[in-house]
Amino acid sequence: MKKRSMAAPLRLKATSASPGVASGPVYIAEPPAAVSQPAALGHLELATAIETAINELQNLAIGSDAESGDIIDFQIEVLRDPTIVEMAGARINAGENAIFAWVGTLDGYVRELESAEEEQLRARGVDILDIKNRVLAALTGTPVEDFPIGSIYVGKDMEPSRFLAHDWSAGGGIALYAGSAAGHVALLARSRSVPMVIGAGRFATAAGQHIRVDGDAGVVVLQLDSQSAAPIRPTPPVASAGPAADNGILRTKDGSQILLSINLNAPDEIDGIIAATVAGIGLMRSEFAVTSLADAANEEKQFAIYRRVLEWADGRPVTIRMLDIGGDKPLTGLLASPELRGIRLLFAQPKIARVQARSLLRAAIFGNLRVMLPMVTFPSDVDQMRQIFREEAAEFTHRGVPHRLPPIGMMVEVPAAALMLDQFETADFFSFGTNDLAHHLTASTRNDVEFGACSEKVVPAVLRLLAYAVKIAGSKPLSICGDLAGDPRKTAELLSAGIRHFSVAPAQLPAIRSAIGGLNADGTKAAGE
Ligand code: PEP
Ligand code: MG
Repeated sequence: MKKRSMAAPLRLKATSASPGVASGPVYIAEPPAAVSQPAALGHLELATAIETAINELQNLAIGSDAESGDIIDFQIEVLRDPTIVEMAGARINAGENAIFAWVGTLDGYVRELESAEEEQLRARGVDILDIKNRVLAALTGTPVEDFPIGSIYVGKDMEPSRFLAHDWSAGGGIALYAGSAAGHVALLARSRSVPMVIGAGRFATAAGQHIRVDGDAGVVVLQLDSQSAAPIRPTPPVASAGPAADNGILRTKDGSQILLSINLNAPDEIDGIIAATVAGIGLMRSEFAVTSLADAANEEKQFAIYRRVLEWADGRPVTIRMLDIGGDKPLTGLLASPELRGIRLLFAQPKIARVQARSLLRAAIFGNLRVMLPMVTFPSDVDQMRQIFREEAAEFTHRGVPHRLPPIGMMVEVPAAALMLDQFETADFFSFGTNDLAHHLTASTRNDVEFGACSEKVVPAVLRLLAYAVKIAGSKPLSICGDLAGDPRKTAELLSAGIRHFSVAPAQLPAIRSAIGGLNADGTKAAGE
């Protein structure tokens, strides 16, 4: 009888979205249609969160010293105070989400205490802030569903919040039936060195089967034999961002100065990078640090995140972009119209904008902060947001809270803004977002593989618009932070379009450094290169 041979590994052609190779057991994601929309948080959720906070405090009280015990008793008393719950309840009845109803009530209480005559009462403010945040943490809304560590995520698409909530330290990879290399999950995968392929088409596999994602070759390998099924972990990211402690100040071959900064997705990405190797942070996507409605309402948490990054930068410019939520970056727990994104969503949800403005104003005294606005379309967008910052700053001045009004600039990622850049007199700086420019110029969706920001078909139109916008931008600081900035094949054309400041994912620093060093300022190849 003929011996039945084992099926040979099956290689499926896909497209690379993030390099590296990983293998492991399959996790099959539920189709997005089956994922239910989060319900708005109301009375019940608030009551449960308060109960959770009380339980936590009671546990903390066990074994604590007399002084801490007194503070905890006071905090529990406040949480049990029916007036507080009633005030928050009235706000919920008036249509507020439980998160902001709670924040509004407790902020009012803190302000009352701050203006009290008695020193002892004033000192209670910080205890109230603490319980405000404890309840907020318990009110995070729908938790993001995680999957086993080390597994290969297989599905039609993936939400950025899922990527961010997952622990990738033990390996794992992503294979999407659809997706795009320009999508936000691909961008995160590249910055965390998680192998990822997209456009694999729907393929048959079962949960737990071992497969391999080859992000270098752009393939998915199925039917692995036991030997090749051994888990492959991607090589850890390069620890250093670049060799030279030159503050990211480079020279073209003919001597022009070019600045090289980094884009930051998750704030802990700075941990392996020496600040002196870069000019600063050209883009921090705050939506990847503030991932739930409760975080968006948490001024203290945001302040701590921004302050840490500013202190790391040690005086170098740190450009923090306000929350670019909506579209393929939903905020967990927020029900918002699907057509709203970026600054338009912030104006529709002014409480979120104001909490972020306050935490940025306070963080600004710890470094060289620049605030960047996402998806700006009209000059009035900049003025309207600046007004919010001014109002919050005036309130801080009134309360004696230390703060500084930072420069406020904008992403140039909506074609209407790029074409009219000379009209944006009140923006303090510009940064080109070629990912969204490509997407909006081609009437494509961000997940459309063919129309990605670095696709050969799309790039000429983006470059032409960019060159025009640079010409009319005047003398304001100007940089580029879209993916095109990190593509060394396009450095010459970007230089020729007049770009002098590149902000790229940390992994792209060496390639862009070397590309700039081999070119003249007009993008021509230096002699002998
Ligand atoms: C861009 O659009 O190019 C950009 C940098 O913003 P994001 O990729 O976060 O949309
Ligand atoms: Mg964008």
